Amino acid sequence: MSAQGLQFQYWEPRVEKMPRAAIEELQLTRLRAAVDWALRTPFYRERLGKAGIKSGADIRGLSDLRRIPFTTKHDLRDGFPYGFLSIPRDDVLRLHASSGTTGAPTTIYLNAADIDRWSNFVARCIYGTGCTRADVFQNMITYGLFTGGHGFHAGAERVGMLVIPSGPGNTTRQFRLMQDFGTTVLHATPSFLLHVESKMKEEGIARESIQLKKAFAGAEPYSEDTRRRIEGLLHIDVYNSYGLSEMNGPGVAFECQAKAGLHLWEDGYIGEIIDPDTLEPLPDGETGELVLSCLCREASPILRYRTRDLSAFYTEPCVCGRTHRRLRRITGRTDDMLIISGVNVFPSQIEEVVMGMKEVGNNYLIILEKDGALDRLIVKLEVGPDIFMDDARPLNALREKIRRTLQAMITINPRVELVEPGTLPVSEGKAKRVQDNRPRDV
Ligand code: ADP
Ligand code: ZN
Repeated sequence: MSAQGLQFQYWEPRVEKMPRAAIEELQLTRLRAAVDWALRTPFYRERLGKAGIKSGADIRGLSDLRRIPFTTKHDLRDGFPYGFLSIPRDDVLRLHASSGTTGAPTTIYLNAADIDRWSNFVARCIYGTGCTRADVFQNMITYGLFTGGHGFHAGAERVGMLVIPSGPGNTTRQFRLMQDFGTTVLHATPSFLLHVESKMKEEGIARESIQLKKAFAGAEPYSEDTRRRIEGLLHIDVYNSYGLSEMNGPGVAFECQAKAGLHLWEDGYIGEIIDPDTLEPLPDGETGELVLSCLCREASPILRYRTRDLSAFYTEPCVCGRTHRRLRRITGRTDDMLIISGVNVFPSQIEEVVMGMKEVGNNYLIILEKDGALDRLIVKLEVGPDIFMDDARPLNALREKIRRTLQAMITINPRVELVEPGTLPVSEGKAKRVQDNRPRDV
Protein backbone atom coordinates (compact mmCIF):
# COMPACT_ATOMS: atom_id res chain seq x y z
CA MET A 1 0.00 0.00 0.00
CA SER A 2 1.24 3.52 -0.54
CA ALA A 3 0.22 7.04 0.33
CA GLN A 4 2.11 10.26 -0.31
CA GLY A 5 4.38 8.10 -2.48
CA LEU A 6 5.34 5.96 0.53
CA GLN A 7 5.80 2.23 0.45
CA PHE A 8 4.65 1.02 3.86
CA GLN A 9 6.26 -2.05 5.34
CA TYR A 10 5.00 -4.06 8.31
CA TRP A 11 6.96 -6.17 10.78
CA GLU A 12 3.88 -8.23 11.67
CA PRO A 13 1.20 -7.34 9.11
CA ARG A 14 -1.39 -9.67 10.65
CA VAL A 15 -1.14 -7.97 14.05
CA GLU A 16 -0.55 -4.42 12.86
CA LYS A 17 -3.58 -4.44 10.55
CA MET A 18 -5.79 -6.58 12.76
CA PRO A 19 -9.48 -5.58 12.67
CA ARG A 20 -10.58 -3.56 15.73
CA ALA A 21 -12.85 -6.30 17.04
CA ALA A 22 -9.99 -8.79 16.97
CA ILE A 23 -7.67 -6.33 18.76
CA GLU A 24 -10.24 -5.89 21.49
CA GLU A 25 -10.75 -9.62 21.85
CA LEU A 26 -7.01 -10.11 22.16
CA GLN A 27 -6.83 -7.29 24.70
CA LEU A 28 -9.49 -8.91 26.83
CA THR A 29 -7.70 -12.29 26.85
CA ARG A 30 -4.41 -10.62 27.69
CA LEU A 31 -5.93 -8.34 30.31
CA ARG A 32 -7.29 -11.36 32.15
CA ALA A 33 -3.85 -12.95 32.08
CA ALA A 34 -2.26 -9.67 33.22
CA VAL A 35 -4.68 -9.50 36.17
CA ASP A 36 -3.67 -13.03 37.14
CA TRP A 37 0.01 -12.04 37.03
CA ALA A 38 -0.77 -8.88 38.99
CA LEU A 39 -2.57 -10.85 41.69
CA ARG A 40 0.77 -12.51 42.48
CA THR A 41 2.24 -9.17 43.64
CA PRO A 42 1.67 -7.87 47.17
CA PHE A 43 0.52 -4.51 45.87
CA TYR A 44 -2.20 -5.73 43.49
CA ARG A 45 -3.34 -8.55 45.75
CA GLU A 46 -4.40 -5.85 48.15
CA ARG A 47 -5.66 -3.27 45.63
CA LEU A 48 -7.52 -5.64 43.33
CA GLY A 49 -8.82 -7.60 46.29
CA LYS A 50 -10.44 -4.43 47.65
CA ALA A 51 -12.07 -3.85 44.25
CA GLY A 52 -13.53 -7.37 44.35
CA ILE A 53 -11.22 -8.76 41.68
CA LYS A 54 -9.90 -12.14 42.82
CA SER A 55 -8.93 -13.59 39.45
CA GLY A 56 -8.58 -12.64 35.78
CA ALA A 57 -11.90 -14.40 35.17
CA ASP A 58 -13.60 -11.59 37.12
CA ILE A 59 -12.91 -9.33 34.15
CA ARG A 60 -15.96 -10.06 32.00
CA GLY A 61 -15.42 -7.52 29.28
CA LEU A 62 -13.03 -4.68 28.43
CA SER A 63 -15.36 -2.25 30.18
CA ASP A 64 -14.42 -4.00 33.44
CA LEU A 65 -11.02 -2.35 33.07
CA ARG A 66 -12.62 0.56 34.91
CA ARG A 67 -13.07 -1.60 37.99
CA ILE A 68 -9.28 -1.77 38.33
CA PRO A 69 -7.94 1.05 40.52
CA PHE A 70 -5.32 3.42 39.08
CA THR A 71 -1.65 2.91 39.88
CA THR A 72 0.47 6.01 40.39
CA LYS A 73 4.18 6.75 40.44
CA HIS A 74 3.72 7.22 44.16
CA ASP A 75 2.46 3.62 44.49
CA LEU A 76 5.47 2.36 42.56
CA ARG A 77 7.80 4.25 44.86
CA ASP A 78 5.98 2.89 47.93
CA GLY A 79 6.32 -0.62 46.53
CA PHE A 80 10.08 -0.30 46.09
CA PRO A 81 11.94 -2.65 45.75
CA TYR A 82 9.84 -5.83 45.29
CA GLY A 83 6.20 -4.81 45.83
CA PHE A 84 5.48 -5.15 42.09
CA LEU A 85 7.41 -8.34 41.46
CA SER A 86 5.18 -11.26 40.47
CA ILE A 87 7.68 -14.07 39.90
CA PRO A 88 10.45 -15.65 41.99
CA ARG A 89 13.53 -13.46 41.93
CA ASP A 90 15.58 -16.26 40.40
CA ASP A 91 13.46 -16.02 37.23
CA VAL A 92 14.17 -12.32 36.76
CA LEU A 93 16.78 -11.58 34.09
CA ARG A 94 17.05 -7.82 34.28
CA LEU A 95 15.86 -4.71 36.04
CA HIS A 96 15.53 -1.18 34.74
CA ALA A 97 14.74 2.10 36.44
CA SER A 98 13.13 5.32 35.27
CA SER A 99 15.26 8.40 34.82
CA GLY A 100 13.90 10.00 37.96
CA THR A 101 12.91 13.22 36.15
CA THR A 102 10.25 14.02 38.73
CA GLY A 103 11.59 12.34 41.87
CA ALA A 104 12.94 9.01 43.08
CA PRO A 105 13.27 6.47 40.25
CA THR A 106 11.00 3.44 40.00
CA THR A 107 12.09 -0.10 39.13
CA ILE A 108 10.69 -2.72 36.77
CA TYR A 109 11.70 -6.36 36.32
CA LEU A 110 11.79 -8.49 33.20
CA ASN A 111 11.93 -12.24 32.61
CA ALA A 112 13.07 -13.85 29.36
CA ALA A 113 9.61 -13.71 27.76
CA ASP A 114 9.23 -10.04 28.75
CA ILE A 115 12.52 -9.07 27.12
CA ASP A 116 11.56 -11.00 24.01
CA ARG A 117 8.17 -9.27 23.68
CA TRP A 118 9.63 -5.83 24.39
CA SER A 119 12.36 -6.26 21.75
CA ASN A 120 9.70 -7.29 19.28
CA PHE A 121 7.67 -4.11 19.88
CA VAL A 122 10.74 -1.97 19.30
CA ALA A 123 11.60 -3.93 16.14
CA ARG A 124 8.04 -3.31 14.92
CA CYS A 125 8.48 0.44 15.44
CA ILE A 126 11.85 0.58 13.70
CA TYR A 127 10.81 -1.56 10.74
CA GLY A 128 7.64 0.50 10.30
CA THR A 129 9.72 3.58 9.47
CA GLY A 130 11.22 1.79 6.48
CA CYS A 131 14.46 0.55 8.07
CA THR A 132 15.94 -2.76 6.96
CA ARG A 133 18.93 -4.96 7.74
CA ALA A 134 20.94 -2.81 5.31
CA ASP A 135 20.81 0.11 7.75
CA VAL A 136 23.53 1.16 10.20
CA PHE A 137 22.07 2.31 13.49
CA GLN A 138 23.92 4.61 15.89
CA ASN A 139 22.23 4.47 19.27
CA MET A 140 23.16 7.87 20.76
CA ILE A 141 21.05 7.46 23.87
CA THR A 142 21.96 6.46 27.41
CA TYR A 143 22.42 2.77 28.16
CA GLY A 144 22.53 1.61 31.80
CA LEU A 145 19.46 1.66 34.02
CA PHE A 146 17.57 3.86 31.57
CA THR A 147 15.45 1.76 29.20
CA GLY A 148 16.13 3.77 26.03
CA GLY A 149 19.56 2.40 25.16
CA HIS A 150 18.98 -1.31 25.75
CA GLY A 151 15.44 -1.28 24.36
CA PHE A 152 16.44 0.19 21.01
CA HIS A 153 19.61 -1.87 20.88
CA ALA A 154 17.66 -5.12 21.10
CA GLY A 155 14.95 -3.97 18.66
CA ALA A 156 17.46 -2.80 16.05
CA GLU A 157 19.40 -6.07 16.28
CA ARG A 158 16.18 -7.96 15.76
CA VAL A 159 15.54 -5.99 12.55
CA GLY A 160 19.06 -7.03 11.58
CA MET A 161 20.61 -3.58 11.42
CA LEU A 162 24.27 -3.08 12.21
CA VAL A 163 24.11 -1.51 15.68
CA ILE A 164 26.71 0.96 16.95
CA PRO A 165 26.13 1.22 20.74
CA SER A 166 27.72 4.67 20.97
CA GLY A 167 25.61 6.05 23.81
CA PRO A 168 25.32 9.86 24.02
CA GLY A 169 27.98 12.54 24.39
CA ASN A 170 31.29 13.29 22.67
CA THR A 171 30.00 14.64 19.39
CA THR A 172 33.45 14.53 17.75
CA ARG A 173 33.55 10.77 18.29
CA GLN A 174 29.94 10.46 17.14
CA PHE A 175 30.84 12.14 13.83
CA ARG A 176 33.82 9.81 13.38
CA LEU A 177 31.58 6.79 13.92
CA MET A 178 29.03 8.14 11.44
CA GLN A 179 31.72 8.68 8.82
CA ASP A 180 33.70 5.47 9.44
CA PHE A 181 30.74 3.10 9.46
CA GLY A 182 28.25 4.90 7.22
CA THR A 183 25.54 5.42 9.85
CA THR A 184 22.11 5.81 8.27
CA VAL A 185 19.87 5.97 11.35
CA LEU A 186 20.25 7.76 14.69
CA HIS A 187 18.43 7.49 17.99
CA ALA A 188 18.69 10.38 20.46
CA THR A 189 16.70 12.89 22.42
CA PRO A 190 15.51 15.75 20.18
CA SER A 191 17.60 18.20 22.22
CA PHE A 192 20.74 16.14 21.64
CA LEU A 193 19.98 15.96 17.90
CA LEU A 194 19.81 19.76 17.82
CA HIS A 195 23.12 19.89 19.65
CA VAL A 196 24.64 17.42 17.17
CA GLU A 197 23.58 19.66 14.30
CA SER A 198 25.11 22.76 15.91
CA LYS A 199 28.36 20.89 16.57
CA MET A 200 28.44 19.57 13.04
CA LYS A 201 28.43 23.10 11.72
CA GLU A 202 31.01 24.18 14.29
CA GLU A 203 33.37 21.31 13.46
CA GLY A 204 32.92 21.81 9.72
CA ILE A 205 31.56 18.31 9.07
CA ALA A 206 30.22 18.26 5.51
CA ARG A 207 26.74 16.77 5.17
CA GLU A 208 27.97 14.82 2.15
CA SER A 209 30.51 13.02 4.36
CA ILE A 210 27.74 11.25 6.27
CA GLN A 211 24.94 9.05 4.98
CA LEU A 212 22.20 9.80 7.53
CA LYS A 213 18.63 9.18 6.44
CA LYS A 214 16.54 8.98 9.60
CA ALA A 215 16.43 9.58 13.32
CA PHE A 216 14.22 8.36 16.12
CA ALA A 217 13.69 11.12 18.65
CA GLY A 218 11.98 10.69 21.98
CA ALA A 219 12.29 10.47 25.77
CA GLU A 220 11.20 14.11 26.14
CA PRO A 221 8.47 16.33 24.71
CA TYR A 222 9.18 18.35 21.59
CA SER A 223 7.09 20.34 19.19
CA GLU A 224 6.30 19.75 15.54
CA ASP A 225 8.46 22.82 14.79
CA THR A 226 11.41 21.18 16.51
CA ARG A 227 10.90 18.05 14.40
CA ARG A 228 10.80 20.13 11.22
CA ARG A 229 13.87 22.06 12.32
CA ILE A 230 15.90 18.88 12.88
CA GLU A 231 14.65 17.41 9.61
CA GLY A 232 15.50 20.57 7.68
CA LEU A 233 18.92 21.08 9.21
CA LEU A 234 20.13 17.50 9.00
CA HIS A 235 18.16 16.54 5.85
CA ILE A 236 16.68 13.44 7.46
CA ASP A 237 13.28 12.04 8.46
CA VAL A 238 12.57 12.26 12.18
CA TYR A 239 10.14 9.85 13.86
CA ASN A 240 8.61 10.43 17.26
CA SER A 241 9.24 7.62 19.74
CA TYR A 242 7.28 7.36 22.99
CA GLY A 243 7.78 5.05 25.91
CA LEU A 244 8.26 4.96 29.65
CA SER A 245 10.05 2.54 31.90
CA GLU A 246 6.83 1.58 33.71
CA MET A 247 5.60 0.19 30.35
CA ASN A 248 9.00 -1.41 29.49
CA GLY A 249 10.52 1.67 27.89
CA PRO A 250 10.59 2.56 24.18
CA GLY A 251 8.25 0.71 21.85
CA VAL A 252 4.96 1.76 23.44
CA ALA A 253 3.87 4.20 20.72
CA PHE A 254 5.68 5.23 17.55
CA GLU A 255 5.12 7.13 14.36
CA CYS A 256 4.77 5.30 11.07
CA GLN A 257 5.92 6.86 7.81
CA ALA A 258 2.75 8.96 7.66
CA LYS A 259 4.13 10.92 10.67
CA ALA A 260 0.64 11.75 11.82
CA GLY A 261 0.46 10.65 15.43
CA LEU A 262 1.98 7.70 17.26
CA HIS A 263 0.46 4.22 16.90
CA LEU A 264 -0.06 2.77 20.37
CA TRP A 265 0.61 -0.99 20.15
CA GLU A 266 -2.74 -2.11 21.43
CA ASP A 267 -1.88 -5.81 21.47
CA GLY A 268 0.61 -4.95 24.24
CA TYR A 269 -0.95 -1.94 25.96
CA ILE A 270 -4.41 -0.60 26.70
CA GLY A 271 -4.57 3.19 26.53
CA GLU A 272 -7.16 5.47 28.10
CA ILE A 273 -7.35 9.25 28.21
CA ILE A 274 -8.79 10.61 31.43
CA ASP A 275 -9.52 13.99 32.90
CA PRO A 276 -6.70 14.33 35.47
CA ASP A 277 -9.01 16.13 37.91
CA THR A 278 -12.20 14.07 37.77
CA LEU A 279 -10.42 10.84 36.68
CA GLU A 280 -13.31 10.23 34.28
CA PRO A 281 -12.56 8.90 30.77
CA LEU A 282 -12.54 11.49 27.99
CA PRO A 283 -13.89 10.90 24.48
CA ASP A 284 -11.48 10.33 21.59
CA GLY A 285 -10.00 13.59 20.36
CA GLU A 286 -10.00 15.31 23.74
CA THR A 287 -6.77 16.07 25.53
CA GLY A 288 -6.15 14.53 28.91
CA GLU A 289 -3.86 12.29 30.90
CA LEU A 290 -2.77 9.05 29.29
CA VAL A 291 -3.38 5.94 31.40
CA LEU A 292 -1.68 2.74 30.29
CA SER A 293 -2.05 -0.92 31.21
CA CYS A 294 0.76 -3.27 30.30
CA LEU A 295 -0.45 -6.53 28.72
CA CYS A 296 2.97 -7.80 27.81
CA ARG A 297 4.97 -8.16 31.01
CA GLU A 298 4.84 -11.03 33.45
CA ALA A 299 7.54 -10.09 35.97
CA SER A 300 6.17 -6.63 36.90
CA PRO A 301 2.58 -6.25 35.74
CA ILE A 302 1.37 -2.66 35.94
CA LEU A 303 -2.27 -1.86 35.34
CA ARG A 304 -3.98 1.49 34.73
CA TYR A 305 -0.83 3.45 35.29
CA ARG A 306 -1.35 7.21 35.42
CA THR A 307 1.50 8.39 33.19
CA ARG A 308 0.82 12.09 33.79
CA ASP A 309 1.58 12.55 30.09
CA LEU A 310 -0.84 14.70 28.14
CA SER A 311 -2.16 13.42 24.86
CA ALA A 312 -5.34 12.58 22.93
CA PHE A 313 -6.47 9.78 20.62
CA TYR A 314 -6.96 10.52 16.94
CA THR A 315 -10.21 9.13 15.66
CA GLU A 316 -9.58 8.73 11.92
CA PRO A 317 -7.83 5.63 10.58
CA CYS A 318 -4.20 6.09 9.48
CA VAL A 319 -3.26 6.04 5.79
CA CYS A 320 -0.70 3.32 6.54
CA GLY A 321 -3.43 0.76 7.16
CA ARG A 322 -2.45 -0.01 10.76
CA THR A 323 -5.48 -0.34 12.97
CA HIS A 324 -3.82 0.46 16.29
CA ARG A 325 -5.07 3.84 17.45
CA ARG A 326 -2.78 6.85 17.23
CA LEU A 327 -1.86 9.17 20.07
CA ARG A 328 -1.28 12.83 19.43
CA ARG A 329 2.30 14.02 20.09
CA ILE A 330 2.77 14.16 23.88
CA THR A 331 3.01 17.82 24.82
CA GLY A 332 4.27 17.39 28.36
CA ARG A 333 3.23 16.09 31.74
CA THR A 334 0.41 17.32 33.91
CA ASP A 335 3.05 18.31 36.47
CA ASP A 336 5.14 20.28 33.91
CA MET A 337 2.64 23.09 34.11
CA LEU A 338 4.13 26.32 35.42
CA ILE A 339 1.99 28.78 37.28
CA ILE A 340 3.42 32.20 36.51
CA SER A 341 1.68 35.07 38.28
CA GLY A 342 -1.45 32.93 38.38
CA VAL A 343 -1.36 32.04 34.69
CA ASN A 344 -0.92 28.40 33.63
CA VAL A 345 1.88 27.96 31.13
CA PHE A 346 3.27 24.76 29.65
CA PRO A 347 6.93 24.84 28.58
CA SER A 348 5.79 23.28 25.30
CA GLN A 349 3.91 26.50 24.44
CA ILE A 350 7.14 28.44 24.74
CA GLU A 351 9.02 25.86 22.68
CA GLU A 352 6.42 26.05 19.95
CA VAL A 353 7.02 29.79 19.57
CA VAL A 354 10.79 29.84 19.72
CA MET A 355 11.59 26.74 17.66
CA GLY A 356 9.37 28.05 14.88
CA MET A 357 11.62 31.12 14.40
CA LYS A 358 14.51 30.58 12.08
CA GLU A 359 16.61 33.37 13.69
CA VAL A 360 16.58 31.40 16.93
CA GLY A 361 19.32 28.80 17.44
CA ASN A 362 19.06 25.24 18.72
CA ASN A 363 18.88 25.73 22.48
CA TYR A 364 16.85 27.71 24.99
CA LEU A 365 16.21 27.94 28.71
CA ILE A 366 13.19 29.04 30.75
CA ILE A 367 14.02 30.75 34.05
CA LEU A 368 11.52 31.76 36.73
CA GLU A 369 12.38 34.27 39.40
CA LYS A 370 10.66 36.30 42.05
CA ASP A 371 10.67 40.07 41.66
CA GLY A 372 9.14 41.34 44.90
CA ALA A 373 5.68 39.82 44.98
CA LEU A 374 5.67 39.19 41.23
CA ASP A 375 6.88 36.27 39.19
CA ARG A 376 9.33 37.01 36.43
CA LEU A 377 9.69 34.84 33.35
CA ILE A 378 13.03 34.98 31.58
CA VAL A 379 13.50 33.16 28.30
CA LYS A 380 17.14 32.75 27.32
CA LEU A 381 17.73 31.84 23.71
CA GLU A 382 20.75 31.02 21.64
CA VAL A 383 20.67 32.93 18.36
CA GLY A 384 21.05 31.16 15.02
CA PRO A 385 24.50 30.99 13.35
CA ASP A 386 23.61 33.80 10.91
CA ILE A 387 22.92 36.41 13.59
CA PHE A 388 25.74 38.75 14.61
CA MET A 389 25.83 39.44 18.32
CA ASP A 390 27.63 42.80 17.93
CA ASP A 391 24.97 44.28 15.67
CA ALA A 392 22.67 45.86 18.27
CA ARG A 393 19.80 47.05 16.07
CA PRO A 394 18.69 43.78 14.43
CA LEU A 395 19.31 42.04 17.74
CA ASN A 396 16.96 44.39 19.57
CA ALA A 397 14.36 43.96 16.88
CA LEU A 398 14.62 40.18 17.16
CA ARG A 399 14.35 40.31 20.94
CA GLU A 400 11.24 42.46 20.65
CA LYS A 401 9.69 40.17 18.04
CA ILE A 402 10.18 37.11 20.26
CA ARG A 403 8.86 38.94 23.30
CA ARG A 404 5.73 40.04 21.48
CA THR A 405 5.04 36.61 19.99
CA LEU A 406 5.52 34.90 23.35
CA GLN A 407 3.27 37.38 25.09
CA ALA A 408 0.55 36.81 22.52
CA MET A 409 0.80 33.08 23.12
CA ILE A 410 1.02 32.88 26.91
CA THR A 411 -0.29 36.32 27.96
CA ILE A 412 2.76 36.84 30.19
CA ASN A 413 5.31 39.46 29.31
CA PRO A 414 8.68 37.68 29.40
CA ARG A 415 12.17 39.11 29.50
CA VAL A 416 13.98 37.76 26.45
CA GLU A 417 17.75 37.33 26.56
CA LEU A 418 19.71 36.42 23.47
CA VAL A 419 23.02 34.60 23.86
CA GLU A 420 25.74 33.22 21.56
CA PRO A 421 25.24 29.77 20.02
CA GLY A 422 26.68 26.96 22.14
CA THR A 423 26.56 28.84 25.46
CA LEU A 424 23.51 27.31 27.15
CA PRO A 425 23.89 24.00 29.02
CA VAL A 426 23.39 20.81 26.98
CA SER A 427 22.15 17.61 28.54
CA GLU A 428 23.13 14.25 27.07
CA GLY A 429 19.91 12.70 28.31
CA LYS A 430 16.63 14.50 28.83
CA ALA A 431 16.99 18.27 28.47
CA LYS A 432 16.45 20.42 31.55
CA ARG A 433 14.77 23.44 30.05
CA VAL A 434 13.19 24.99 33.14
CA GLN A 435 15.01 26.59 36.05
CA ASP A 436 12.53 27.61 38.70
CA ASN A 437 14.44 29.82 41.13
CA ARG A 438 11.36 31.06 43.00
CA PRO A 439 11.43 30.44 46.74
CA ARG A 440 9.12 27.50 47.46
CA ASP A 441 7.16 28.89 50.40
CA VAL A 442 6.04 32.13 48.79
P1 ADP B 1 11.01 9.51 34.04
O1 ADP B 1 9.53 9.43 34.31
O2 ADP B 1 11.82 9.49 35.28
O3 ADP B 1 11.41 10.58 33.06
P2 ADP B 1 11.41 7.49 31.94
O4 ADP B 1 12.84 7.45 31.61
O5 ADP B 1 10.68 6.21 31.98
O6 ADP B 1 11.28 8.13 33.36
O7 ADP B 1 10.73 8.48 30.91
C1 ADP B 1 9.41 8.35 30.48
C2 ADP B 1 8.79 9.71 30.28
O8 ADP B 1 9.51 10.46 29.29
C3 ADP B 1 7.39 9.63 29.74
O9 ADP B 1 6.44 9.40 30.75
C4 ADP B 1 7.23 11.01 29.10
O10 ADP B 1 6.94 12.01 30.08
C5 ADP B 1 8.61 11.29 28.54
N1 ADP B 1 8.66 10.92 27.11
C6 ADP B 1 9.16 9.80 26.58
N2 ADP B 1 9.04 9.82 25.23
C7 ADP B 1 8.42 10.97 24.90
C8 ADP B 1 8.01 11.58 23.66
N3 ADP B 1 8.21 11.02 22.48
N4 ADP B 1 7.37 12.78 23.74
C9 ADP B 1 7.15 13.37 24.94
N5 ADP B 1 7.54 12.87 26.12
C10 ADP B 1 8.17 11.68 26.10
ZN1 ZN C 1 0.20 4.86 10.43
